Amino acid sequence: MSEATASIDVLVIGGSGAYHFSSEAFGVETDRLTVETPFGPSAPVRILQSQDRSVGFLSRHGERGYSLTAPFINYRANIYAAKALGVQQILAWSGPGAIHGAFHPGDLVVPDDLIDLTRQRPLTFFEAKGIGFIRQNPVFCPEIRRALQAAMDGLNRPCHRQATYVCTEGPRLETPAEIRYMRQIGGDLVGMTLVPEVFLARELEICYAPLCYISNYAEGVRELPYEKGVLFEGTLPAGDGKRVDAALSAFPQIVRSTLEHLASMHRACPCKDAMLRYRKRGDIGEDWRSWIA
Ligand SMILES: [Zn+2]
Repeated sequence: MSEATASIDVLVIGGSGAYHFSSEAFGVETDRLTVETPFGPSAPVRILQSQDRSVGFLSRHGERGYSLTAPFINYRANIYAAKALGVQQILAWSGPGAIHGAFHPGDLVVPDDLIDLTRQRPLTFFEAKGIGFIRQNPVFCPEIRRALQAAMDGLNRPCHRQATYVCTEGPRLETPAEIRYMRQIGGDLVGMTLVPEVFLARELEICYAPLCYISNYAEGVRELPYEKGVLFEGTLPAGDGKRVDAALSAFPQIVRSTLEHLASMHRACPCKDAMLRYRKRGDIGEDWRSWIA
């Protein structure tokens, strides 16, 4: 499709493992579309009816399996599509590795900060324009983070409420020295997907926050032997796989509960006014498409 015809308030972006879920896990599927954008077609967005509201669901890495690694995701097309569909809030999930000693595979984490170590991704919609000088504290939407934490409390699911996510380029995993460096600069988790999603969402005044499940130990955090031919080659101890699966299978329930909490919130966060200064100055108009064109 070329122009978005559906309208949704909230988009759930699924990470590793998202393709295993049936649509029904999040709501009743009423439509499925791909949005044409100036950056190419977006990933397919499923429109789901859930609790009297329409939400979108987009699987970053593909719909049938892990077909697209992090550096090759068309982040700009996906976030542009979200805006075109009317999305105001994005709830993202990601499965990083644990750097912090208190984090273990299968743990749930609501990160509160980010270090960008990506190298060659388009990081902005505003190429060669004099706009986009935007404060990044809070980097993640505090309102969605509150909703996530309230959902987890209500479901009696423990979660880590503070963590700094380091985003690398990938798709390779990190070297031991890189992980030592990341720990020294304050990183608690290492993953490949939240950048530039979070920054692009902010540029289009969309709230964005992630929920992470720890999928393995970062390199060198534990003494773990190299295991040939298995996922992460040994950095996910065999006995921990069940904890990771349990965290993944909890996602639909956590998402549904978070959506309920979000429905009673009113975007009192700064996200929706990220470009206000430029509007006030007359640098940009109200039509966000003209900011990018
Ligand atoms: Zn917000």
